[in-house]
Amino acid sequence: PVPAAAPVRFAAGAIIAGRYRLVALLGKGGMGEVYRAEDLILDQPVALKFLPAGADDEARLSQFHNELRVARQVSHKNVCRLYDLGEAGGHRFLTMEYIDGEPLASLLRRIGRLPHDKAVQIARQLCAAVAAAHERGVIHRDLKPANVMIDGEGDVRVTDFGIATARSDTAEFVGTPQYMAPEQVKGQPADHRADLFAFGVVLYEMLTGKSPFSRPSGV
Ligand code: ADP
Ligand code: MG
Repeated sequence: PVPAAAPVRFAAGAIIAGRYRLVALLGKGGMGEVYRAEDLILDQPVALKFLPAGADDEARLSQFHNELRVARQVSHKNVCRLYDLGEAGGHRFLTMEYIDGEPLASLLRRIGRLPHDKAVQIARQLCAAVAAAHERGVIHRDLKPANVMIDGEGDVRVTDFGIATARSDTAEFVGTPQYMAPEQVKGQPADHRADLFAFGVVLYEMLTGKSPFSRPSGV
């Protein structure tokens, strides 16, 4: 797989767009780097997600704006809130609610399968998040444990809902296809059912500590 975009490196302490002070790099996924930042105007923590350079393309950008417009209508306690788009030095970024918690992916790596009641609680909240988004016509398309944050109260906060278009073309298979519905893997159009497929894989992993698919290691 080809890296999604040229690496964007900002030092902690850097001020972005005259408004956000970068506190720490949280991680790097299929789109770009995600930082914890301080909104200096509202004096609040935010998460800043830099978008791949490919998102500059006119058609993609307007598709992404449409996607964001719809995704922002989802308001639910188990869905991470999207704030706005910004630009600094030619880099586009998305601001969103900063979730103080741990991704389900790292929790599963740490402890393997979850206690039954905990798995059921997370599954219920995941379903509530997905239902709220689907009611608004918003599809995740990249539901996976890395996008399921567990906050300080142990509650689910799903990140990256409805912003799949921001991924660059080459990023399509960055990470792992193990949560993708067969039609997505084939590159065919996918609808809300793709999220249900992904949910099923996540549920299986929570209950067994294993992937339902056996794949060569490293894939
Ligand atoms: P991925 O979802 O594939 O891990 P991302 O680029 O979406 O890649 O995010 C990278 C990491 O940044 C995530 O694994 C998570 O730990 C962290 N992260 C993303 N969004 C948020 C957020 N809104 N609040 C806190 N941490 C976040
Ligand atoms: Mg993510």
